[in-house]
This record gives sequence, C-alpha cells and structure tokens, in this order.
Amino acid sequence: MNANRRRFLTTTSMALAAAAAGRSALFARVSQSAGAGQAGPPAAPPTAFAALRGTIGTFVGQGGTIGYHIGKDGVVVVDAQMAPTAQIALQGIRERAGGRMIDVLVNTHHHGDHTEGNAVFRPAVKRILAHVNVPSLQRAAAAQQAAARPGAPPPEPVVADATFVNTWEEDVGGERLALKYYGAAHTSGDVVVTFAKTDVVHMGDLVFNRRHPYIDRPAGASISNWIKVLEAVAGEHGSDTQYIFGHAGERFPVTGARADLLYQRDYLTALLEHVRRELTAGKPKDEIVKTAAALRGFPDHGPLVPRVLTAAYEELAG
Ligand SMILES: [Zn+2]
Repeated sequence: MNANRRRFLTTTSMALAAAAAGRSALFARVSQSAGAGQAGPPAAPPTAFAALRGTIGTFVGQGGTIGYHIGKDGVVVVDAQMAPTAQIALQGIRERAGGRMIDVLVNTHHHGDHTEGNAVFRPAVKRILAHVNVPSLQRAAAAQQAAARPGAPPPEPVVADATFVNTWEEDVGGERLALKYYGAAHTSGDVVVTFAKTDVVHMGDLVFNRRHPYIDRPAGASISNWIKVLEAVAGEHGSDTQYIFGHAGERFPVTGARADLLYQRDYLTALLEHVRRELTAGKPKDEIVKTAAALRGFPDHGPLVPRVLTAAYEELAG
C-alpha cells in the first residue's frame, strides 16, 4: 500500500460490517486479516477511497478496484465489487456526488468480484453497461454456483441493461466515456474504459499488477490474444495516461502507467514461453502444471502457481 493510498484509508461503519457479516469465504479471510476472530461484531473489510486525477478516483475493498468519475452533472462508476463493499463504495460515492443518481455503471467483465455489487448499486443507477457477452457469462456463472450449492436458490444476477459489441461512446458529466472491446483476453467480455478528457483508463482484470492473474478459459480467455490487447491499449493511449487495474499484488498499487501494461504483457509472454519450453522438452502435464519457481525476470509475482500454468498448458496443448 503506498502512502497516497494509506492517507485515504477510511474506517467503515459497524452497521455496514454487521450487514456484510458472513457473506463469503473471501469476506471471512479479509476479516481475519483485519483482526476479527474475537467475540463481538466482525471487523469490516478494509476499504479505501483515493483521489486519482481530476474528477476521477478509486475505491478498493473486496473485489476488483472500482473507478469513479464525479462531474458537475453526471456520475460514472466502473465495476461494483462484492456486495458488502459495494454498499460502502455506493455510500461514499453518493456523498461525494452530493446525493446524485449514478448515470452509468460499467461492468468491465462478468466475474462476481466485479458484478455481485450490481444488486447493491441498482436502485441508485440509471443504466448498467457491459460488453454483449457479459450478461450470459454472468448467468452461466450464477447457474454453476447454484449447482455447486444445492438448497436455497441464489438470487438472479443483476445484469447490464445496455450492451455493445465493439465500442460505446457518450458524454457524461463533462467527460467523454469510451468503452472498447479488443477480443478475448482475461475472459471473452473484457472492456477497456477510457475517460478521454482526464486521460484515465480503467483496465478491469486485463492488468493484475505484479500478481498471478486469473485466466478464465471456460469463459473464453486467451493468453496469446491478451498479449495483443495490452499492446494495442498501450499503443492507443498517450505516455501520460493513468491506468486503474482490477487487482494488484499486496505491496503494489492498483493504479499505474503504460509501463505496467507492458510489464503484464511481458509476464504473459514469458508464461507462454515457459510452458512451451516444458512441452517441447516432453514433460507430462502433471509435471508442467505443478508449483514452480518464479518466472525469470518476474520475481514480484512469487512462485508460479498451478492455475496459471494449467491455463497456459491448455491453451498451447489445444
Ligand atoms: Zn476477473
């Protein structure tokens, strides 16, 4: 956590913590790390608002980083996290926006840690926007979760009410909001969200800053195309553009610059090369996909983990 982020650290209310209690295993883990476990109400998940540039800020909590733009007559929010911290984000954004409705909520992709909070935001949001593949991926993920947990049926996921295929642009609150789909990468529904005037870009999960990514092959992920996507985004924006990342390693920021996009590109390239070498050497799958030393040149990510090796193996082995 950098000093800038620490400065904006906010303490969340116990009422919200109580409402959030027991929501998920991830929440339990976050609570424990925040010192819960003794008698009494659980600790709230750690959350933080941070100013980024001009009208744009970030919120970190439980799930992918939320980005927001608060203009004089319009508000945009990018991603909604899990429900417990969505509540905290919504309250803080509305306070900062003087109680205004949110004009647009963008889902960068369908994963629950970016969309579960849609249900919390829904009453305060005029429109939810996403790539055309996102609602069906979201419903499929919800059905899969329901099948894994028989019993009470889970609530229907709240999905986007407007979708697009390649690009979407509109003016909101003095900003030019531009969404663009570059093809399969982390999933098959990732959009890059650009605030053109302020020159800030939300990358969703196209960047896991110095952290092993989740590569969702069942949802259409492609590492080789992900590499091209990062290259394209870096090429289409200036050297001064500020980027927001879905996730980051513990000691690394959730915002950064073009160099961080290219670092993510180089990591994915090295991952594919590593697995290709192992395949060429004739190693069997179970040996290739077990935990291994860090990729050479990428010590910050720590040891290679089975989930990224399996995704690379399956992509290369076909
Ligand atoms: Zn994701």
